[in-house]
Amino acid sequence: MSVISIQNVCKTYVMSAGMSQDVLKNVNLNVEKGEFVAIMGPSGAGKSTFMNILGCLDRASSGNYYLSGKNVSKMNDNDLARVRNKMIGFVFQGFNLLMRRSILDNVSLPMIYDKDGRDPRVRRARAEKLLDMVGLTGFIDRFPNQISGGMQQRVAIARALVNDPEMILADEPTGNLDTKTSNEIMDFLVKLNREQGITIVLVTHEPDIACYAKRLVRVVDGQIAYDGDVKQYMENNKA
Ligand code: ADP
Ligand code: MG
Repeated sequence: MSVISIQNVCKTYVMSAGMSQDVLKNVNLNVEKGEFVAIMGPSGAGKSTFMNILGCLDRASSGNYYLSGKNVSKMNDNDLARVRNKMIGFVFQGFNLLMRRSILDNVSLPMIYDKDGRDPRVRRARAEKLLDMVGLTGFIDRFPNQISGGMQQRVAIARALVNDPEMILADEPTGNLDTKTSNEIMDFLVKLNREQGITIVLVTHEPDIACYAKRLVRVVDGQIAYDGDVKQYMENNKA
């Protein structure tokens, strides 16, 4: 079964005075379990709009979105929030950690909304295990401002995994990191994808970062202009 099945999705922003803008125009996309997809495209093309729909942060104006077989296009806000918390792990450019909470709390908190996470001991054990996995064993009692940017992003990755999501959505995850740290974070995402079969969809404007994925989806003017092998695309579009 596809993790993502987007069928004829359109998004129209309606502004005041009857003005409207078609930002996504009949988009179709299927992503199977275990894929690693990079989304690229010029500024204003509709990437963020598309990511917001994929992440259940916003709804399409028309068309259907099946997330692991569940039609989320017509869900109300509460159901959408539940689906989001349970099925999607987010990794953002700015890490989005709670600065007044420990690393351990940052990773455990999303479990509170899940019925399996009601027991604090269960939450702690799972958070510790994930922080181990991202190489932060000795840092769990620190606060985000006491660790490096690369480490903060690893905390965010651990947090993204805590509810055992169907996929990870990463929006410019290396945008605030230097090249070396960016490559470390990308190597880590590749490892997660290869070894644990986690589906990853990543937005980036950097070709080097996109090349860590296998498949490239290029969004241009609200439509998918390329969908295929990332290396093939880069080969055919050398500067
Ligand atoms: P990208 O992420 O590729 O730069 P966006 O999805 O942010 O593109 O934006 C695509 C277009 O939709 C732009 O023209 C932008 O001005 C418009 N847009 C984005 N969000 C809104 C909104 N909430 N209301 C109205 N127009 C919007
Ligand atoms: Mg954007």
